[in-house]
Amino acid sequence: MAALDRAKSLLFSNVSHELRTPLTLLAGPLDDLLAEAPEGQKREMLVMARRNVRRLTRLVSTLMDVSRLEAGRLKGSFRLVNLGAVTRDLAALFRGAIEKAKLNFTVECDQQNKDVYVDPDHWEKIVFNLVGNALKYTMRGFVKVRVTYSKTEAILTVSDSGVGIPNSDIGLIGERFHRVQSVSRSYEGTGIGLALVKELVKLHGGTLEIDSHVAEESADGSHGSTFRVALPLGSDHLPIDAIDHAAAQAMQNTYGKGIVDEAMQWTRDREGSSADESLSSDSTPDSSGASSRGLDPTTLYFKKEDVIMLVDDSFDTRRYMRSIFAPFCKLVEARDGKEALDMCEVSMPDLIISDVMMPKVS
Ligand code: ADP
Repeated sequence: MAALDRAKSLLFSNVSHELRTPLTLLAGPLDDLLAEAPEGQKREMLVMARRNVRRLTRLVSTLMDVSRLEAGRLKGSFRLVNLGAVTRDLAALFRGAIEKAKLNFTVECDQQNKDVYVDPDHWEKIVFNLVGNALKYTMRGFVKVRVTYSKTEAILTVSDSGVGIPNSDIGLIGERFHRVQSVSRSYEGTGIGLALVKELVKLHGGTLEIDSHVAEESADGSHGSTFRVALPLGSDHLPIDAIDHAAAQAMQNTYGKGIVDEAMQWTRDREGSSADESLSSDSTPDSSGASSRGLDPTTLYFKKEDVIMLVDDSFDTRRYMRSIFAPFCKLVEARDGKEALDMCEVSMPDLIISDVMMPKVS
């Protein structure tokens, strides 16, 4: 098992490394093109491409971080910070996405200057993964972020009124690639985020505790999760050469912006498309769509009045497919199997093109 695990980690770091270079070479030119692209459909396509390149880049770098952490090769560079203020600023980036999802968002961070050392980049990843998950797995209610202090510890808690995690799974959360089948805003995910959080917290000499319950397992039907990160105060528990005495720099937040951008897609998804807008949606011919991909409309069997139903939980995938078919026929969109079935009861499309694994009903 140990050998297998080493092989896995080696594979991750080698493959990740190979993936990083081409990704960088995609991201750069895309940014350049975007800087010059005028508003319009082509720009939207570039924005979508950039969002997905960023997503892949984040995934790859998370994989690399996790395998480096597990091999003891990723070290921290710890600085004295005002943890409450830093965390409040990080959480603030999520406000738009969380409020758009109609969740109640509270941030209560004790902003006293205490003796807390963190690696700012790592802390950002911890906060963003926890808050991102809280949003992803909470369909209604609240998300709450707190920083408090005990005599010996700084404590970050991120709690939500989301679906919760079944008892049988709690012990496995934070194992690489472990995921629970649960209702969420997006089926997308890899089960790597919490593995990273767990390793990063360990690197800080801290602990991660999860308290979570699902409605079926609680006496009163309540549900939700609390993730509690506790870091020891002071720096005695950290390696001396890993302490950075330089003044705190402004945080970059690039990692976090990617997560927020993605979260915006989930909520945007909830408000857009679906039955109300669907049948009459903008099927305007699109020069950047099918025709420029060499598809000849006369070889397609569609009539203008035919209705295709696109079923996919990814907003970007639906939009891309829409750009292909929109010139030829009418389109309706559903975000998961359940929504598709409901829409079929009202009006049966001529053709359904569907993803397989989706939230609610696959
Ligand atoms: P991902 O979200 O990409 O699947 P994570 O490592 O972030 O991966 O989380 C692992 C699993 O833990 C998720 O698939 C989900 O089942 C569960 N989980 C994490 N955070 C929450 C939360 N706040 N509420 C409910 N379930 C959660």
